[in-house]
Amino acid sequence: MRRKLAAGNWKMNGTTISLTEAENLAKAYTSPSVDLLICPPSTLLSRLSETLGNSPIATGGQDCHAATSGAHTGDVSAEMLKDSGATYVILGHSERRDTYDEESEEVRAKAGTAMENGLTAVVCLGESLAQREANNTLDIIGGQLAGSVPDGATGENLVIAYEPVWAIGTGLVPTLEQIAEVHGFIRERLIRRFGEETGNAIRILYGGSVKAANATEIFSVADVDGALVGGASLKASDFSGIIDALE
Ligand code: PGA
Repeated sequence: MRRKLAAGNWKMNGTTISLTEAENLAKAYTSPSVDLLICPPSTLLSRLSETLGNSPIATGGQDCHAATSGAHTGDVSAEMLKDSGATYVILGHSERRDTYDEESEEVRAKAGTAMENGLTAVVCLGESLAQREANNTLDIIGGQLAGSVPDGATGENLVIAYEPVWAIGTGLVPTLEQIAEVHGFIRERLIRRFGEETGNAIRILYGGSVKAANATEIFSVADVDGALVGGASLKASDFSGIIDALE
């Protein structure tokens, strides 16, 4: 049985005042039946981890470097995330793949370092609108999945997030059939590569314009094990609508 996961990606949003939102969430969910995760900007990670220290809500980074340490101005290592209280890290988000030309090979190296440091890597995959319209969705997802996930992945150290690029922050959401097709495809590929047991243990999140209003139907789709939520994770009142749909 895969435990569901509601993950919030704050992106480049949040200052000290945002800790109150996390506190409100922690008050509302003292023993949730699903896993909860907030990935704040790295400036807030230590404080958020402390704020949530006695709650079941985990914290995570939004990226890490593939190297363990060294001359990498502006970057953050997996060990630093761990030291700041994180247990997860988002990797290969489309905003990084696009803006920083991050290729799957780099994402795979980062995920390997994250896993070696005891973090769970949330590896993001997603097709652009042009790729979907050209009927290339499954080829793109298959390539990103094979390229971005290191050997040695397990249900504990890896979560996959399927996030169609055209659905992120746009209010557009794929049909339930489209979500089912991609999630089923990812599951099949995971089983093929890692075997029945591990392939079935790895969680697959959907991400892209998830809100309380559409969460219930998205979560009804087979192989959707939760959500990676951007905009609607910033406020406890919005995020809890999504968590309630998952519980
Ligand atoms: P969104 O972002 O929920 O604001 O569409 C999702 C994501 O980028 O993870």
